[in-house]
Amino acid sequence: MRIDVVSIFPEYLEALNLSLIGKARNDGLLTLEVHNLRDFTTDRHRTVDDTPYGGGAGMVMKPEPWAQALETVRENKRPVLIVPSPAGTVFTQAMASTLAQEDHLVFACGRYEGIDERVLDWAEGSFDVLPLSLGDYVLNGGEVAVLAIVEAVARLLPGVVGNPESLVEESHSDGLLEYPVYTKPSSWRNLNIPEVLLSGNHARIARHRRDEQLRRTALRRPDLLEKLDPAGLDAADRAV
Ligand code: SAM
Repeated sequence: MRIDVVSIFPEYLEALNLSLIGKARNDGLLTLEVHNLRDFTTDRHRTVDDTPYGGGAGMVMKPEPWAQALETVRENKRPVLIVPSPAGTVFTQAMASTLAQEDHLVFACGRYEGIDERVLDWAEGSFDVLPLSLGDYVLNGGEVAVLAIVEAVARLLPGVVGNPESLVEESHSDGLLEYPVYTKPSSWRNLNIPEVLLSGNHARIARHRRDEQLRRTALRRPDLLEKLDPAGLDAADRAV
């Protein structure tokens, strides 16, 4: 997979050199380049913003530097252009799985009041444009959203996470939250792990974990349970 990120704060994305994503880049599983939007300006102040038409607070990102940057990274195919925005569709694990199938993702990091809307309209001609939100709150810029989305997508690429089994049982992989996990020692500060985990009985352990998934999801995210088909849920439950 190839990923290009355009930002006025390329340093923000340096975290993508670390840990599993950094290793995936070193191993050639992922090609990731960060571009400074100011390199695509033509004035001596390298201006990327201007006042909003219609008035109002804040500044808006000018369209032409964006067009220049996006034309440069596009190459020949039709990449997915992800535009982080609190006004976008909320990013989910299902979207991460879909995006992990793509060859080329381009991220446009907004700042100030966001990017001139015409950039998205223009980009529709040569990109699949996807405005994505991390959640219902407002950040200062798209960079944090890019870190989150790239990490969620890249860890699904073959070879990035050492044991692919660990991706199967995670929160959101089956629409439920993951069960609680424990490690040694079995007793710590007067807190004991659930007895069943020491039983060696795999069927009982699977039942216990499934019950904990359902209990935790009902408690913390009842909205997720409501989205699941009850018949499918019952069938999955009987299979445990
Ligand atoms: N005026 C915009 C609005 O109300 O929709 C908010 C602009 S915000 C201060 C600046 C940039 O931060 C956005 O262009 C976007 O790139 C990013 N951003 C802010 N909140 C975000 C969120 N919840 N998810 C993804 N990106 C976000």
